[in-house]
Amino acid sequence: MKESESPSPRLGSVTGVTLPETSAILNVQEHGDSSARTGSVRTGFPKQGGQSLSYWLQQVRCDPLLDHRTTEDLPAEADTVIIGSGLTGTLVAKHHLETWPDRSVVVLEAREFCSGATGRNAGHCKPDQWRGFGKYGKAYGAEQAMKILDNEAATWQALVAYAKENSVDCDLWVGDTLDVPLDVEVAKTGREVFERYRSLGGKVDHIRVTDDPAEAFKVTRIKTAKACYAWQASTLQPWKLTAHIMRDNLKKGVNLQTHTVAISVRNGSHNNRKWVVETYRGTIACCTVVHATNAYSAALEPSMQGVITPKPHMCNKVVPPRAFCGFKTIQNSYGVLLPDGGLFSINPRCSADGMMMFGGSNPGQKQLDAWVEKHPEHCIDDGFSRVDSVTDCVRNFVEENFVSWEGSEIGPGEGFDYSWSGIIGLSADGVPFVGELPAKPGQWICAGHHGHGMARIFTAAPGLVQLMNGETWAATGLPDVYEITAERLERVRAASEGKSKVAII
Ligand SMILES: Cc1cc2nc3c(=O)[nH]c(=O)nc-3n(C[C@H](O)[C@H](O)[C@H](O)COP(=O)(O)OP(=O)(O)OC[C@H]3O[C@@H](n4cnc5c(N)ncnc54)[C@H](O)[C@@H]3O)c2cc1C
Repeated sequence: MKESESPSPRLGSVTGVTLPETSAILNVQEHGDSSARTGSVRTGFPKQGGQSLSYWLQQVRCDPLLDHRTTEDLPAEADTVIIGSGLTGTLVAKHHLETWPDRSVVVLEAREFCSGATGRNAGHCKPDQWRGFGKYGKAYGAEQAMKILDNEAATWQALVAYAKENSVDCDLWVGDTLDVPLDVEVAKTGREVFERYRSLGGKVDHIRVTDDPAEAFKVTRIKTAKACYAWQASTLQPWKLTAHIMRDNLKKGVNLQTHTVAISVRNGSHNNRKWVVETYRGTIACCTVVHATNAYSAALEPSMQGVITPKPHMCNKVVPPRAFCGFKTIQNSYGVLLPDGGLFSINPRCSADGMMMFGGSNPGQKQLDAWVEKHPEHCIDDGFSRVDSVTDCVRNFVEENFVSWEGSEIGPGEGFDYSWSGIIGLSADGVPFVGELPAKPGQWICAGHHGHGMARIFTAAPGLVQLMNGETWAATGLPDVYEITAERLERVRAASEGKSKVAII
């Protein structure tokens, strides 16, 4: 997309589950929205060449792990082939090694190590602790909604525990994240959702709430804040976290093959290996395949067509002006809740270099989404940079809302420095698909994280390995609605053909 083609920024609208009491919509995901349910079969393999580099990937250009190949040639056989080296594939490999230390594992990656969504996201691990209750409850019932929010808390705790226990060099920050409604209607809806969640027994003791705009302004530094919800979350350098785990996997015997696209998985019979993974570098006969391909899942696995849909998403890196540096540095991460379901997700990297990452579904992102709808060949295009509609929304927001930002002198090296795209895997019903592919015994999937994987994968990936080990769904502790079943796929496909309804998250 050329900058000149970028639609001019304006407040857009987003479809979603509208709460009955009001037209205001709360965005559940950091980055997802309901445009997944397009009914199309948009998909593709990871784009080769021309990707924009994320800030995280820019920081590690001399790291040999990017192009690592454990063996010069692909092994002809393996017990398990994991396709994808993002956080999902890397964590599945870790738990696979812990469960079956003697089984051979090959991880295939189409491009550089961890160069998909994990290496391109906004670096926010923010467990939803109340906001999604309205939408999840409406779609799946209160019990499942609570399970989803509890699971997000457990996922965040697992990620932080891993990073701390292993002293992972990944700029981990743990502190208060702030959800900030900017509009009276959104604040009202938020309060209703929060109260309903509390009244049904949802855990809220760890959330500090203020409904007083003056107090909210003091806490958030956002002029138009109408309320504030604060609880613990994290920011981090996601590539470095994933690389740490993969390096450990490599020491324990995993064979990583970067720049190797899996182009098909077909039946095989070699040495009782029932699957054959085909690549341009040769084939691997194996007993077990794990699809850790997230946004790209449908390119390889036809049953995921129309079920997981790729969508380009932008992240802006901003070097804050001096009024927001030193002791005036922003000390919290944010979810800024806009009218019509829009969201700014802000990661200020306040324990690292103070570069501010702006993700989320802002109105400019909606314009990019609309453009991609008309140009579906760009659905896997992670080569976008500096998309004006998205960046201008961020600029307008900070200038209008953070006191002293507007009018700050922006010197060379400061300001709206850079933005990049990554591809999120929209799930047709808004929650991930975890489990064995129906009618394909020995092929497993953990994908469709709907732009929110950092708050899901640290429990979903080990959960998948438990299932591979014959344990029950209940043993995984994952929300039931994450399970892939033939019935769920059927329901989602029928909905995309307009034959039935499916909850849209
Ligand atoms: C701009 C942006 C910002 C985001 N911000 C956040 C955030 O702040 N917080 C949050 O929770 N989530 C965020 N997300 C979402 C989050 O990054 C993802 O949910 C998560 O990283 C998914 O991890 P994954 O390992 O499943 O997928 P990925 O990291 O995408 O990994 C899949 C890998 O599979 C490889 N692959 C695919 N097909 C093949 C094939 N056929 N052969 C070989 N390899 C293949 C890909 O190249 C890729 O490396 C964001 C996403 C984007 C794009």
